[in-house]
Amino acid sequence: MALVPDFQTSPGMRDILPPESARWRRFVHVFAGVAEGAGDGQVISPLLEDLGVFQRIGDATDVVTKEMYDFVDKGGRHVALRPELTASVCRAFVQHRPLTPWKVWYAGSQFRYEKPQRGRYRQFDQVGIEVLGADDPYLDVEIIALGWEFYRALGLQQVNLLLNSLGEPADRARYVQALQEHFEAHLDTLSDESKVTLQKNPLRVLDSKRPQDAPLVAAAPKIAEFYSEAAAAHFAAVQAGLTELGIPFTVDSKLVRGLDYYRHTTFEYQGGTLESAQNALGGGGRYDGLVESLGGPPTAGIGFALGLDRTLIACDDEGVFPAPANDVDVFVVDTTGGLQALQITAQLRDVGIGADRAFENRSMKSQMKAADRSGATYAVIIGSNELDAGEAVVRPLRAERALNPDGSPSDGTQSTIPRSDLLDHLKKALS
Ligand code: AMP
Repeated sequence: MALVPDFQTSPGMRDILPPESARWRRFVHVFAGVAEGAGDGQVISPLLEDLGVFQRIGDATDVVTKEMYDFVDKGGRHVALRPELTASVCRAFVQHRPLTPWKVWYAGSQFRYEKPQRGRYRQFDQVGIEVLGADDPYLDVEIIALGWEFYRALGLQQVNLLLNSLGEPADRARYVQALQEHFEAHLDTLSDESKVTLQKNPLRVLDSKRPQDAPLVAAAPKIAEFYSEAAAAHFAAVQAGLTELGIPFTVDSKLVRGLDYYRHTTFEYQGGTLESAQNALGGGGRYDGLVESLGGPPTAGIGFALGLDRTLIACDDEGVFPAPANDVDVFVVDTTGGLQALQITAQLRDVGIGADRAFENRSMKSQMKAADRSGATYAVIIGSNELDAGEAVVRPLRAERALNPDGSPSDGTQSTIPRSDLLDHLKKALS
């Protein structure tokens, strides 16, 4: 009878096992390289904050109103697991008052009580960048370019960059007013869900993917008609900068970020291979007022968050950025009880050679199988004959990688080496 486990991961939560976990680590490593190459330092934020930190993002989004993992802790504080990191970074900025521009990157898990499906989880990982304290269109370009460069570094080809500007806050306010009037004039054809959205935030109605709303959304006024001169100039500079860097983009006037703080540039990276409901790999934009609302001085901000899960799905679709093999260099087969394997693996690891071994004194055949599975380039074999003679057998397992100590390709035959030469022999053969 099959054993039924008492527990499994709760919905929307996953175990990330090897070798996939190594891929996650490398994902963050690649991102860190891109971000730090632009002078961004890492910020490590708590998983848990006072609920109020996230409520300051605004009450117009599901992330804040419906999806938060919040609870009262044992000290009576109302706290929440972070659903995103922009608010935490702004809270940290207010708390520590670093010099500006403050350029930071982050990586980690976020929590949202969503309906789990492929590419949508309740605990999911993001990497991101936020820069606080500089209001310059070329900073927008730098940030957008870093995201672009990151996807390139992963090997992704099919990424589309969508770009928009929400203008200055006053432009946006006039636009919201016009949108409201447009949708209210045709309320009878709007879906019930969008009627509710309209009450909270007319901009978000533009996000509706319901076919019923499509004609009204298409006929809605466009933000570009409302730009002030300064807003138009900022947006033009961003587009010119991207063109200068050879980064292709599409202006999409429906790309709005629902939060009240967003102004000027908004952008989204879409995966060309993903289904449209889940094709956002990541996105971001310029925001003002968030730092202020958390008790800090008026401070310009811009950033993005990129989803790890969907990006890896896109990588799978394109056959790039595979999970790295967790191969060791050497596997020690010891049929004399295991003490020799203990010594040799320790000596090898000491000089930086990856080494594994079998346990439980298994048969030669079973240990050789394990050696094959390990991906090691060489097996070192110690049987009682070798032990008595003070020798070791070195057998190439991966003929394509194995070399003789003089650097010439191995013909795959094994050699018997005095134990005292073993370390040197392997160092040379693996160098
Ligand atoms: P957001 O913070 O909502 O702007 O999301 C930024 C990116 O994070 C999205 O484009 C997705 O790639 C990813 N993301 C957001 N929510 C989830 C989720 N529930 N599961 C997996 N990835 C997510």
